[in-house]
Amino acid sequence: MSYRLLHVTFLPICWTDIFKPLPRFISSHLKFRSNTCRVWCSSDCENRNQGEIMEQVVADGAEVMVGNPELLQRKISSIRLEGPAKLQVIADFDGTLTKYWVDGHRGHSSHGLLQQGNPEYDVKRQKLYEYYHPLEIDPTIPIDEKAKLMEEWWEKTHGLLIEGGLTYGAIKSSVANSRIAFRDGVLELFELLEKSNVPILIFSAGLADIIEEVLRQKLHRSFKNVKIVSNRMVFDQNGHLLSFKGKTIHVLNKNEHAIDMAAPVHDQLCDVNGLVDDASSVKMRTNVLLLGDHIGDLGMSDGLNYKARISVGFLNDNIEISRDSYRKSFDVVYMNDASMRGVVTLAFQLCSTGK
Ligand SMILES: [Mg+2]
Repeated sequence: MSYRLLHVTFLPICWTDIFKPLPRFISSHLKFRSNTCRVWCSSDCENRNQGEIMEQVVADGAEVMVGNPELLQRKISSIRLEGPAKLQVIADFDGTLTKYWVDGHRGHSSHGLLQQGNPEYDVKRQKLYEYYHPLEIDPTIPIDEKAKLMEEWWEKTHGLLIEGGLTYGAIKSSVANSRIAFRDGVLELFELLEKSNVPILIFSAGLADIIEEVLRQKLHRSFKNVKIVSNRMVFDQNGHLLSFKGKTIHVLNKNEHAIDMAAPVHDQLCDVNGLVDDASSVKMRTNVLLLGDHIGDLGMSDGLNYKARISVGFLNDNIEISRDSYRKSFDVVYMNDASMRGVVTLAFQLCSTGK
């Protein structure tokens, strides 16, 4: 497939004369509300609505790929027609809601930031990582076998956290000392979706308690529409970790079925965040805006019989190698650790009535 310049004619955008041909793409810079963006599009996607579509997905100097703007436009229209009552957002956490680079260094993941407060056990967990991570990324291991290994890794890690005497205080101080930051625009996105009563499911193979603490410390407020579907800890009165709730959620089973697996989690979430939707009512929301940073994140909507799904991918690293596969897999791809502001614009469109 070849690529060419978008011919966009809507008012807020004016084209500059900067064109930069690349081997398989033609890119263009365009000006959008005082910001310059670069948009990539396949050659078979041009129509008169492209300007409108681009207005909905570009912002803040982001470099964006839209493989099929016509299909994206159809999805946007269909979701708008049904309104926010039928919409849910499913988001990965690390590298999706959070920045990949923080102050020039690789940002921490929600799991990687944890310092247990017991150096011996930090080392033990690191040794597990060194053993299992190569297995996780080994393409020769069949998926069933790998899923068992991942479960084994997660359960051993959870066991070490209990045995090593993890406290909630250690989680708080780990988050305070971590290099983790939300993408610019995440707060606005959450506020917009909260106002529109659209639930946000954050799916993570990490630890729900850490993610909640990151939300508290970095966004300085809680959201009643945010659910964390992840591994949840049980602490005693003194803040010592006792056990984990529900079935273990690891990298290979982090999908919509996780809602059922983590059923007990939701009881607790209702207390913590005052949630209005339970798992079954979330399943009635058949339009999805999915945010992820790995192609595997598309599986987060497995088990949900959705009508329309707009998938947004953040391509943070190995851009040249992964560009084609991301463009084919996601409806919209933001490159180079972009902000969330384009997604805010898109979500605003989706939550506005299209009638
Ligand atoms: Mg991620």
